[in-house]
Amino acid sequence: MKKLTPMMQQYHDLKDKNPGVILFFRLGDFYEMFGKDALKASEILQITLTSRGKGVDAIPMCGVPHHSAPNYIDRLTKAGEHVAICDQVSDPSLPGIVQRAVTRIITPGTTLSQNLLKAAENHFIAAACTLKTKKTEEFGLAYADLSTGLLQTQNFKNSTQLENELARLQVKELVLNKELEKNSSSESLKSSFEIKKIPLTEHLYFDEPEKTITGHFKVKSSQIFGLEKSSAAKKATALLLDFLKSTQKNELAQITEIKLISGEKHMPLDSATLKNLEILRTLQGEEGRGTLIQVMDETKSPMGARLLRAWLTKPLLNREEILERQDATDSLFKESNLRQELREEMKNMQDLERALSRLASSGANARDLLSLATSLQKIPNFQKALSSHPKKTSRSQENTVSTRLTAIQTGLDPLLELTKTLQNAIVPEPPVKTTEGGMIQPSFNPELHELTMLMKDAKGILAAMEAREKEKTGISSLKIKYNKVFGYFLEVSKANLSKVPDSYIRKQTMVNAERYITEELKETEEKILTAQEKVLKLEAQIFEELRQNTLKERIKIQKNAKLLAELDVYSALAELAKKRNYCRPQILTGERKLSIREGRHPVVESLKLGTSFTPNDVHFDQEKSTYHLITGPNMSGKSTFLRQVALLTLMAQVGSFVPAKSMELTLVDRIFSRVGASDKLSEGESTFMVEMQESATILRNATEKSLIILDEVGRGTSTYDGLSIAWAITEHLHTKTQAFTLFATHYHELIHLADSLKTAENFSVDVHKSKTGVLFLHKIKAGGSGEACRTPRGSYQQSRRSAHQFRVSKTAKRRLCSAQYFWRRNQQETQKTKESKTPY
Ligand code: ATP
Repeated sequence: MKKLTPMMQQYHDLKDKNPGVILFFRLGDFYEMFGKDALKASEILQITLTSRGKGVDAIPMCGVPHHSAPNYIDRLTKAGEHVAICDQVSDPSLPGIVQRAVTRIITPGTTLSQNLLKAAENHFIAAACTLKTKKTEEFGLAYADLSTGLLQTQNFKNSTQLENELARLQVKELVLNKELEKNSSSESLKSSFEIKKIPLTEHLYFDEPEKTITGHFKVKSSQIFGLEKSSAAKKATALLLDFLKSTQKNELAQITEIKLISGEKHMPLDSATLKNLEILRTLQGEEGRGTLIQVMDETKSPMGARLLRAWLTKPLLNREEILERQDATDSLFKESNLRQELREEMKNMQDLERALSRLASSGANARDLLSLATSLQKIPNFQKALSSHPKKTSRSQENTVSTRLTAIQTGLDPLLELTKTLQNAIVPEPPVKTTEGGMIQPSFNPELHELTMLMKDAKGILAAMEAREKEKTGISSLKIKYNKVFGYFLEVSKANLSKVPDSYIRKQTMVNAERYITEELKETEEKILTAQEKVLKLEAQIFEELRQNTLKERIKIQKNAKLLAELDVYSALAELAKKRNYCRPQILTGERKLSIREGRHPVVESLKLGTSFTPNDVHFDQEKSTYHLITGPNMSGKSTFLRQVALLTLMAQVGSFVPAKSMELTLVDRIFSRVGASDKLSEGESTFMVEMQESATILRNATEKSLIILDEVGRGTSTYDGLSIAWAITEHLHTKTQAFTLFATHYHELIHLADSLKTAENFSVDVHKSKTGVLFLHKIKAGGSGEACRTPRGSYQQSRRSAHQFRVSKTAKRRLCSAQYFWRRNQQETQKTKESKTPY
């Protein structure tokens, strides 16, 4: 094999240091890829594959122009690839081979591309770790959004909780330590992620977590973030920070704090509930129409939109915090003028968090600085609007601004000096690139001013000098001219030589004239000829100074962004409530209660064009009514009703108003849902398996403070088995768990159960039958359905007879055990063993 050229040697050295990534190797105006990288990239990008060298030494090669590289990189990261950008880092005009280095590695979770980031969504990358001690085992998750600077971490007691959180966050990439602790839980966690098709990245990290964290935040101890000496969350945070540093190759200035999330403050939503309630996506996995977020998102800024998503998937468990949100929303609900004023201002607010994060990365430009300044400039308007209304001193006061809104008003910092500097410095429409000049106002810097004037007015300056010299010497024919050899010179005809002053320096003798230069002319020439170059350098230097000065204020800017996002969400919730006629729920203390009068399903209601939505009531009471069995024909509205109750409860605990005439509730600790029939074949789970998994999760985790909706249970198996399962679950939830439960079923045999269960009640959905057909009234009424039921298999008569022949309690127990067996097995076994042991 031929000896490698120095450049190819350089390529191979860099490739060895960055395994597993596609190396974009800068050669002149192109980024080239070689070998396997070229084969892979040419296929994904559909670009021509050529080769470098000939014969046996030929290697595959492909390339993309450097100015359009971002688009190609986006396509590769979208396909799950990691791309290392290798740039020239030494001056190419210097002798010898130009130095190259990897300046950034772009991965699916770390991309900052505007094309891939969604304004209203966070773009999360996460890291997961386990920590095993003699007695306990802990699971840690850290997640960051590089585009906003958010970094949060949490400890979990089991892997299911961690997986639920991953589903909530919809992470784009999950980092695991390459040197995984060789214990069963780490490995089963990894295989579970693989099954769920979460994009995994293995990163080698063996440093001390404490050192990594204190090193980044320049603090004495990680305890200031509430991190314990040793915890899985801390390990995960350090792993994530190390990975981000190794790919970004910068200081990660946008990450200014770690927020430790406590499981006790927020209601955990398991992945089934998140999916079944169609909060962010529909059951078909689509975004937008049909989701709760789409109906509720009345925010005006991307920061507000992201915060609302976070709130909706993390309802609160603390009454005071809910009341604080309600009060803020209520103030803006009642003060329509203030709300409209704030929303008008909010419309022009740029994405402060993302602009700041771009500034912290290498891809920032003057537009980011200007957009920051333009947004900061609006902050006094928000403060003025809020302060023009009287402040609330007690909760019952009308026409006042809530204490939280007042705190937002005083917490905002307009950063007047920085804003003024940026606005004076940046031109109104700066270019995208920072290397081509034209971004700084000449008046901002005296030297820049002089240089730009010089460039603009070179002719005028020379003409003025010529006139001055003519006057000084009295030589009226004196001329300033230019040639490539001597540059600018003064030309004096032979007849006037006697008038030439001593300060003139002779440069060239011509037939009829002499050519001279002066100190002043030389200096002016130097300035004119190098002005362009100097302007570019000076502008880049000023831009860098402005960038650094802005980054110095990053903590205050991030705080502003958070407060504005919160204000945006309150005004959005108030606007929503006004527009759709929502009411403020009453959060009670004391005996458990959940009561909704004339509740409506927020999404179904919004989709009903032309027809109206029929409101329905629900009244749960700890002593009298905890278990509601809903029967009724297909299409009558059972599912809608069940989800409506769950959604309204969720909205109430988010702090939002709800679509109802009135709502009263004591806080629920969890909302569980089991809805419909679906399988997860790619994850090795049949319809029945999914149903049993979801039911078992509820049976194991629900407490008396939970709200449970069960929309059909036992449909994935034979009629009698299904009926027994439904029966068993009903008895268990009513008698043991005592959680508020809504159970919609086609097993009408269960109607008779209410006679023997103390706090169980039957409800059904009203239909009007006439000769012309059935009219669905969608009205929930007391009492079981008189309809002959349609069982999954077999006739009503048969199933009814058989149900009575069962020795119910014995069967129920057996079926309950079977549900729990499935749950336990899911916890313990990996996918492979699951597949081989599936008993049906
Ligand atoms: P199935 O038993 O077949 O699952 P179901 O009883 O659960 O049916 P839903 O799916 O809840 O019925 O409702 C069927 C349709 O009826 C919904 O798509 C909705 O458009 C309409 N609907 C349900 N509830 C109401 C209501 N309260 N007001 C107006 N329309 C409603």
